[in-house]
Amino acid sequence: MVDMPYIASEQDSQLKKLGLNFGFAGKTDFVPKVLLTKQIHSKKIVQADSLGFGVIEADGIFTQAKGVAIGVKTADCLPIIIVNKDLDFLLAVHAGWRGLCQGIVAEGVAIYQGLGLSSPLMAIIGPAICAACYEVGPDVALALEGQDLGLSKDQAKACLQQRPEALEKWFADLKKAAFFQLLNLGFKLQDIEVLHACSYEDASRWFSYRRDRVVSPSTSIISWASL
Ligand SMILES: [Zn+2]
Repeated sequence: MVDMPYIASEQDSQLKKLGLNFGFAGKTDFVPKVLLTKQIHSKKIVQADSLGFGVIEADGIFTQAKGVAIGVKTADCLPIIIVNKDLDFLLAVHAGWRGLCQGIVAEGVAIYQGLGLSSPLMAIIGPAICAACYEVGPDVALALEGQDLGLSKDQAKACLQQRPEALEKWFADLKKAAFFQLLNLGFKLQDIEVLHACSYEDASRWFSYRRDRVVSPSTSIISWASL
């Protein structure tokens, strides 16, 4: 049985109290520093254990070491946590439509397979902007309809809904797109958890770039520690 990750936003009073060194639900004696990267909407994934000092640009971070907490910052984009059933691989991914189209999720799975590990993977898609709140123009719609996502035509169709009264506007469902990607990559349905919290709608818990129009430090952090 795997514990749920501790999910915190920088607005949480608990997180404010603890500053950067925040802990995990029920594991307050276990307070590692959360390793984060400078996110650039890429498909680049780095290994936490090999990071030195300084700013590392990447949108995914993984570890095989014990007791390492890794995380991603989001403000509408998807935080995706991937862990294997043997609990010796942990990956945190930040993905918006660009990252999904560039294949960052598949990149994470490829890295996992490259390590010679084969225990089944599980994923949690965390709080992010929901389809009802995420209106996009033709550029994003076109990208999400294309081959880059690795989705079938029907899957891609299910991720986009054109606004009837505004033909150049679509509602995009990034959580669904990531969910389909995970399924297509071999994740079992029961091993994918989608949290339905919407970053745009719940200002008391999550930051939203669309709502707040502020990039930094207004970001939520989702993280998990390897055990
Ligand atoms: Zn919403």
